[in-house]
Amino acid sequence: MSPLDPSEPVVLLAPRLLDGTGAAPVDDAAVWFDGARIAWVGPASDLPHEAHGLATAELPGCTLLPGLVDVHVHLVASAGPDLAGDVPRTESERTLAAVANAHRHLRAGVTLVRDLGATGGEAIAVGRAVEAGAIEGPRVIAAGPAVTMTGGHIPYLGRVADGPEQLRAAVRANFGMGAVCIKVVATGGVLTKGLDPRLASYTQPELDALVDEAHRLGLRVAAHAIGEAGVTAALRAGADSIEHGMFLDEENIELFLETGARYSATFAAREWIMRGETVPAWAKERARPAAEAHVPSFQAAVKAGVRIVAGTDAGTPCNHHGRVAHEVVSLVEAGLDVLAGVRAATAEAADLLGEPDRGVLRAGAAADVLAVEGDVAADVTALTRPTAVFQSGRRVR
Ligand SMILES: [Zn+2]
Repeated sequence: MSPLDPSEPVVLLAPRLLDGTGAAPVDDAAVWFDGARIAWVGPASDLPHEAHGLATAELPGCTLLPGLVDVHVHLVASAGPDLAGDVPRTESERTLAAVANAHRHLRAGVTLVRDLGATGGEAIAVGRAVEAGAIEGPRVIAAGPAVTMTGGHIPYLGRVADGPEQLRAAVRANFGMGAVCIKVVATGGVLTKGLDPRLASYTQPELDALVDEAHRLGLRVAAHAIGEAGVTAALRAGADSIEHGMFLDEENIELFLETGARYSATFAAREWIMRGETVPAWAKERARPAAEAHVPSFQAAVKAGVRIVAGTDAGTPCNHHGRVAHEVVSLVEAGLDVLAGVRAATAEAADLLGEPDRGVLRAGAAADVLAVEGDVAADVTALTRPTAVFQSGRRVR
């Protein structure tokens, strides 16, 4: 990362601030940076004396928030109409696509993403390059290839493995590539022709082995699961998050509450399959029953108190990178409280990703700050209007 420019602001002032935890908004707020960390956050009238006279940026009409977090992206995929056909053939092209898509997230104020499935080590490499300051992008928590069964969903973004021993080996292979989390494909998927999206793809002993091995190595597990049986098996195995979860039953919701696992509904993936003009008719047809069950499943989960995180599945058909703010708008439209919606894309999400010093505005946290035009607490769509983005205390937009 280039050294901090002395003319860059270190104190931000705005009429509203949300700290990401779900706490009430702060009016006439200030954030003070000390290098790449936050030194102080609070009402501007209480700003410590040492910060007076430092370079200041006033952001009239804006809300300050933590940089946003998207817990489910595919950096190698660029939202073409046919996921399987549109992922580039060569590793070099996929890596270049991942670099460009990472940049799209950062421009939109997304400073942390979890990549849940690449053909190989592309997203891991992008994450390392960001870390080294070689390229601009959000911090990337990458799973490497998703673990999927023979005949299962997204083999072109995955590693095929069957049986408990192969599942352990697949976790180790990803760990060896530098993966810092694990994605398992626990059911069929809408975008894999000829495969029932609700079918549970792995047996309980297989998922138990995968999660046990991942946790033993310190890697958290995200499970793609659409049907009830797959959600149950993944939660019983100890998965840390369920992705999609379009058909949730009472047992699923009880297991979420029992285990503390997070629910990432990825409304954007389903919405764009249904709305995208270039998405093939067979994919829309297959998505319809899941689409109808999706909002009621989400509402039941919210009502029960399941921990919600925001993920977009960016890269899937017509689902462009850098749009987690729109996912929050969808979550709120489906019934989530605005402050809980913001928390789902900030503190709750960062905590799931093992990054508790991100996704929150407080002293000591990373100086990743987003300013958006408008009052988010009063109008959640303000989140989709970024005006300034700071990463590690440096203005990147
Ligand atoms: Zn996905």
